[in-house]
Amino acid sequence: MSAIMAARPENRATPVDRQGTFTDEERLKRAMANFAKDFGLIAASYMEACIHCGACARACHFYTATEDPKYTPILKVEPFKQAYKREAGPFAFFFKTFNLKPKVTLAELEEWQELLFDSCTLCGRCTLICPMAIDIAHLVRMARHAMFAAGLVPQDLFDRSAAQAGPLGLPGADPDTFVARVRALSAEHQLAMPVDKPRAEVLVCTSEAELTRYPDALVATAKILNRMGLDWTYSTAGYETSNYGIISGNERWQREASAKIIAAAEKVGAKTVVLPECGHDYQALRFEAPNVMDRPLPFRVLHVAELMAEGVEHGTLKFRKVGGTVTFHDPCQLVRRGGAAEAPRKVLEALGLTIKEPWPAGELNWCCGGGGGVVDIKRAEPLRLKAFAIKREQLDATGAERLATSCASCRKQFDDAGAKTRWDRSVESLVVLAAQNLIEE
Ligand code: SF4
Ligand code: SF4
Repeated sequence: MSAIMAARPENRATPVDRQGTFTDEERLKRAMANFAKDFGLIAASYMEACIHCGACARACHFYTATEDPKYTPILKVEPFKQAYKREAGPFAFFFKTFNLKPKVTLAELEEWQELLFDSCTLCGRCTLICPMAIDIAHLVRMARHAMFAAGLVPQDLFDRSAAQAGPLGLPGADPDTFVARVRALSAEHQLAMPVDKPRAEVLVCTSEAELTRYPDALVATAKILNRMGLDWTYSTAGYETSNYGIISGNERWQREASAKIIAAAEKVGAKTVVLPECGHDYQALRFEAPNVMDRPLPFRVLHVAELMAEGVEHGTLKFRKVGGTVTFHDPCQLVRRGGAAEAPRKVLEALGLTIKEPWPAGELNWCCGGGGGVVDIKRAEPLRLKAFAIKREQLDATGAERLATSCASCRKQFDDAGAKTRWDRSVESLVVLAAQNLIEE
């Protein structure tokens, strides 16, 4: 028996969620057909390249926190690897004839629901560590497409995804609530927060997390834009950048979420789109949108941390010197997969803070444990809290006085997991910290 088969998640403890009324056979067919559709030369070469060195296991916070071999990253795509070897790989004939790779069953796919969703934040740390450069996070994404097609997505994540794709969007982020929220914050803070200007150089977006939980970041972003003297607007045609399609595995919903923002930016003639503090939103619009829309975007996409770094560089943003020490949690999608490690550090330095880097930092930073939709899956909480312990220990070891990050999902995980594990630290939003210390002119 191979090490992979030995690590199968036997005696499944996690319940399986199902959507739709497909027969078992239909579910299996839909998963495999979808996987075959996604399957290209690159994925095939990934499937062939694994040398079973196990390096990806230690890179993954879920494996490291539990030492359970079923959480080894490459094992998370095992049913699809099995299908590839049996049906499409160079030795498929032998694998099939001698049943060396048995046919994937629905029971296996159901077992893998927890591995593909509850225990993967799509953080990409395994991808970075793999000596064969296998993009495991990308393979998990493809496997999620197949799981979505088969109606095998954790229900909490499916519900969020379906709500976002609906006419009103996520609860608390519908257009009327958005406009009312912005107007109320604008009045409360005596702050220009323009909505639906016919033309503007910059389209600014927010996220459901900012609208419902972190309005301080919404206000802070407006203060930063105003201080930089930018010609900007929000648009009711496209303002909310969460992209649950990307994390639940529904490509159409992913494309539609991006298309809304793109159409809104084009309508106002924006040359720049500024995204809120969120990693997956950045990944979706900055890197994936040109591919899923099959055309280049006629504007640049900046995360708000990158915008602030530009302000510091051009002298349009000046801060009071805060002093003291800070450590920065690098959001995986912004830094590891997005490459934007310098921008937040430039802002922290401009604030006069001494950065105490965690080890490892930057692209090798440990994930907070909540991304990729994991923070939304209630049943994943015990595992999420275990993964968080690694993050907590890493940050505590820096001895820094303050902790900052630039992603609302990470912020949610820090706030939630921190409270549940009685952590005596709290995380600050980078944009809030910056806006609080703007020098009045
Ligand atoms: S690190 Fe790469 S080569 Fe090694 S087991 Fe994991 S996927 Fe395979
Ligand atoms: S992407 Fe992150 S969470 Fe998912 S398997 Fe790789 S290291 Fe683990």
